[in-house]
Amino acid sequence: MKIRTDVAAMLRNGHSDASIARALHVDAHAVAATRRTLNIPQHKRGRTPAPSAHVLFNQRVRPTDDGHLDWTGYRNADGVAVFRWAGRNYTVNRFAFETHYGRRPVGKVAPGCGHDGCVEGSHLEDQPMRQKLRAQLVGIFGGAL
Ligand SMILES: [Zn+2]
Repeated sequence: MKIRTDVAAMLRNGHSDASIARALHVDAHAVAATRRTLNIPQHKRGRTPAPSAHVLFNQRVRPTDDGHLDWTGYRNADGVAVFRWAGRNYTVNRFAFETHYGRRPVGKVAPGCGHDGCVEGSHLEDQPMRQKLRAQLVGIFGGAL
């Protein structure tokens, strides 16, 4: 049989017979035949995995009206927001921090904005940032803090 290169490409990219048939306006049986000929396994049912950790993060956050970002995803037994992508575990605060500041955080990462559980990258602080802020406040107000 003649194999259409566009059908073969979509099969190799993991699309289902039905979605290829819809996208390319071809018969689903012809797509299935091509799949058998090329020996490509059946498309797996269920939710397609997020293409990147950033996409997954963005799927699981909800902005608040006042500019913060709430995590709507999983929390572990300690209440820490976490997610898993491509076999790797991520702590949401650390991921959001690193994404925003472009560097790995040092020590504990926590929101400094007063919104409990906020995961907006620009609202997160690591240990050196808290120490610097505290030193500045001491400089302004003296050692009374
Ligand atoms: Zn915030």
